[in-house]
Amino acid sequence: MPAASTQTLKPPSKLRRRWKGATRKVRELTSIGWALASTGHPYMAQVVPMRRCNLACTYCNEYDDFSEAVPLDEMLRRIDHLGRLGTSVITISGGEPLLNPHLEEIIARIRKNGAIAGMITNGYLLMPDRIHRLNKAGLDHMQISIDNVMPDAVSKKSLKVLDKKLQMLAEHAEFHVNINSVVGGGIANPDDARVVSERALGLGFSSTIGIIHDGSGQLKPLAEAERKVWDKVRSMTRRSYSRFNHFQEAIANGKTNDWRCRAGGRYLYLCEDGLVHYCSQQRGFPGVPVAEYTTADVKREFLTEKGCAPSCTISCVHQVSYIDHWRAPQKDSITPGSSHGSGSQELVQIR
Ligand code: SF4
Ligand code: SF4
Repeated sequence: MPAASTQTLKPPSKLRRRWKGATRKVRELTSIGWALASTGHPYMAQVVPMRRCNLACTYCNEYDDFSEAVPLDEMLRRIDHLGRLGTSVITISGGEPLLNPHLEEIIARIRKNGAIAGMITNGYLLMPDRIHRLNKAGLDHMQISIDNVMPDAVSKKSLKVLDKKLQMLAEHAEFHVNINSVVGGGIANPDDARVVSERALGLGFSSTIGIIHDGSGQLKPLAEAERKVWDKVRSMTRRSYSRFNHFQEAIANGKTNDWRCRAGGRYLYLCEDGLVHYCSQQRGFPGVPVAEYTTADVKREFLTEKGCAPSCTISCVHQVSYIDHWRAPQKDSITPGSSHGSGSQELVQIR
């Protein structure tokens, strides 16, 4: 179907946006309540419907430049199975999700399964008509990570390139938008993160800051200039979850954390081949097709201690796991290999 003309697209009213925001909040609170009541279902799954990306950030190994989208019927089967497992939040990542011709159908299916629908995008392909299609499909959350102000050899996810896209989102999006800025990982000017965050907040979005670690996969403290920007941005965007701040503070200082990772139980990473992994850094564990993943697997992994937890930098898994921090200790343990962690995109989101 041809895209609708930009001129004919009426931005949603303030009232409609407020209503959407309020109903989204109710669904989120309900999902947290359900997670507090029961440990037998995943809280969040990240799915990859296509590995291809239109960019090539030098710190990332979560993409290629040739793969086709997972066939729609297969993708819908995977979403339905995540729904049967009781997954509360399903986030689409990649590669670049906006390259996927079936993106809106996948989002609509996530919502049909009763889950909260999110996506992580580089934002390059956003246009008003696409934003309206995402509204219509029922997208709840979008995250765009902006790495610098001006494009350079490391990353083209730049404010200068994306600012028009952000303005389109501010005008047309009914869903929540978070802009993630970053320090570390070869980003030339740490102060860019402050500029990005200020712009995001000025447009009415939420903003987070992340650390990109280098390819060694090891925790390293932030350099002084990065630290200053980190503190500044956090003071602009800080929320009151002190336990989360403690976790992220330790990562910024290059120190380990003591926590229970519930990956494989509360959090699932579903790669483009449809296999369930603990997370993007620990592919192959457990590495089984999602169609064969059962509630018994979820319960087993919930209680399995992960040996990689102390030096883990995956903040979204930590945040999901925090729902159950007060529950009984884990009984079994596993130390997954880290061969896939080295060089991967290790992004720490600070909310
Ligand atoms: S970080 Fe995102 S935009 Fe950059 S190459 Fe990886 S998938 Fe593409
Ligand atoms: S790397 Fe982090 S999120 Fe992944 S399994 Fe290990 S502790 Fe869990």
